[in-house]
Amino acid sequence: MKTKIVEIKHDGEQNLVLKEAGEIIKAGGLVAFPTETVYGLGGDALNPESACKIYAAKGRPSDNPLIVHISDLGQLNELAEDIPEEAWRLAEAFWPGPLTMVLQKSERVPKETTGGLDTVAVRMPDHPAALEFIRQAGGFVAAPSANLSGRPSPTSFKYVIEDMSGRIEMILAGEDSRIGLESTIVDLTSDTYVILRPGYITRDMLEKVLGRVETDPTLMDGSCTTAPRAPGMRYRHYAPKGELTLVKGEEGAVARRIAEEIRKAKAAGKKTGIICTKESFSHYQADSIKCLGGRRDEEAIAHHLYRILREFDEEGVEIILSESFSEYGMGQAIMNRLLKAAGYRVIQL
Ligand code: AMP
Ligand code: MG
Repeated sequence: MKTKIVEIKHDGEQNLVLKEAGEIIKAGGLVAFPTETVYGLGGDALNPESACKIYAAKGRPSDNPLIVHISDLGQLNELAEDIPEEAWRLAEAFWPGPLTMVLQKSERVPKETTGGLDTVAVRMPDHPAALEFIRQAGGFVAAPSANLSGRPSPTSFKYVIEDMSGRIEMILAGEDSRIGLESTIVDLTSDTYVILRPGYITRDMLEKVLGRVETDPTLMDGSCTTAPRAPGMRYRHYAPKGELTLVKGEEGAVARRIAEEIRKAKAAGKKTGIICTKESFSHYQADSIKCLGGRRDEEAIAHHLYRILREFDEEGVEIILSESFSEYGMGQAIMNRLLKAAGYRVIQL
């Protein structure tokens, strides 16, 4: 299949392009599109065949449910049933934005879209072109991240082209993703509300609206024996090709240990890489040293993380050592993704 790549320009042509993209979705095809979190791989959420095509294009197991993207709040009633009052309050506080709610699904949503579950995950992205595209597509776009399964989510259209070229009908090329991490997922289907995946919207932010919110305990702990409640969190996502290890502890000790591990890897003839912060950047020596931003600038760290993981792949780096970050607030989402990328390989000092 030849993939059409179209730049989203902020001019009169934009709506024509988004209309064409919407037509592709209505006809059962797939279109990758930018959002504020990461690029999405969209298909018609109400068409079971589109869901199957998405799984095939990503090489993703079909028991991993898709998030349905909407453009207008009224559409929530068409997708979900028994919607608790709190869902509307969350929508008012955080939509459009990087929050996904899991609710009881309505008859209209096919099981192919929900990976066989009776629940549906719904989000309204905070991105004008994405919203217009969803409208043009009929209002219900199922979309996981637009990467091949097992690779970091794409935060730039360059990576979407790398992973999806020849597999889907169209790629809408916009700017780099503003946030750079996937949405926070909160499950509202039981009496206790649970964060199934941490993201930009933090637990504190949710608790201001919902009162008490739990976090799925499996998210930060690789040794947990229970299965995560978001099926997708089971898979080894976000993995660079090189072996990534996180080092946790006091800053100076972490820097010394990373330097030592890099020396060992070099002696073994490996190509080495380091993930660090502005504060420590100049202390290190390795084949590739990537700075995520200031240690306390979580927005910058989130924004650069996936690009950096992909760059290590491009450079053929074999051994990667990373500093760790605070697990508070958005740091929880950053550390969750890093831990998963590392396959929970951690040196605790
Ligand atoms: P992605 O679209 O790549 O961001 O992945 C979507 C994530 O949402 C996966 O981790 C899914 O397991 C999760 N998800 C989607 N629908 C549901 C649902 N109904 N219940 C629980 N988790 C869900
Ligand atoms: Mg994904």
